[in-house]
Amino acid sequence: MATILAGLRRLEGKVALITGAASGIGECTARLFSKHGAQVVIADIQDELGHSVRKEIDRDGKYCSFVHCDVTKEEDVENAVNSAVSKYGELDIMFNNAGIVGAVKPNILDNEKAEFEKIISVNLVGAFLGTKHAARVMIPNRKGSIMTTASVASTIGGLAPHAYTSSKHGVVGLMRNTAVELGQHGIRVNCISPYVVNTPLARDFFKLDDHGVYDVYSNLKEAVLEPEDVAQAALYLGSDDSKYISGHNMIIDGGFTIVNPAFS
Ligand code: NAD
Repeated sequence: MATILAGLRRLEGKVALITGAASGIGECTARLFSKHGAQVVIADIQDELGHSVRKEIDRDGKYCSFVHCDVTKEEDVENAVNSAVSKYGELDIMFNNAGIVGAVKPNILDNEKAEFEKIISVNLVGAFLGTKHAARVMIPNRKGSIMTTASVASTIGGLAPHAYTSSKHGVVGLMRNTAVELGQHGIRVNCISPYVVNTPLARDFFKLDDHGVYDVYSNLKEAVLEPEDVAQAALYLGSDDSKYISGHNMIIDGGFTIVNPAFS
């Protein structure tokens, strides 16, 4: 079965919008989706990088485009969704992937409100806006797949900064509620929760960190994922291969949360 699937373009005819697709997991997913026949809109705040990824995927810009989008701004998200529909006719897959991690401040007393709100705004409010505007255009079509990149920090504490952990628990709550609601309209909603992935975000974060999370990383170096490991999950959840999967938080951690007693 796997061999048969490997030969297919599994997203032929589908239109996908991916936030945070100028780098890391989102970039890799944009490349993979495009290989599988999807028309892809890359949405990010990094314009130069986003344009260059777009050019590498599709020099002529016929089946891949870039749109500037700050996921904390509703007008940007609304515009990104509208641009996917006006360029390619519809939106089948929304991947709320943009995210930031912030500084490690294990002591709650050191955490500032403004910094906390900034993380929540990108990771949680951004996912809310993406889900809302994707639903707006998917409901009339009675189909669609909405996914959000959460994290293993969506189910466990003590692994990431307070605001990050809160935001990732939050996106799972949003996903569960909207999976119930949007299921009535033929739309599936899921989360993907990776362990540490080798991206600019993780590389910066773990270099700066001098607390517990760094120890976890260095102890389990071999277990660090590559962006493709996450992109493959997005491909599955975005495609019709997962047509009965909704309301699911797909953990991709090589068993980390099961085998590590501190986190199970
Ligand atoms: P990355 O830094 O390589 O990519 C994140 C992208 O999001 C960047 O291109 C950045 O410009 C974009 N972005 C940031 N703020 C934005 C905003 N306001 N609006 C639009 N775009 C914005 O990081 P990544 O590791 O690929 O992260 C992608 C997602 O994966 C994030 O949600 C992150 O929390 C999650 N995640 C990452 C890891 C990891 O170890 N790398 C683990 C679990 C979950």
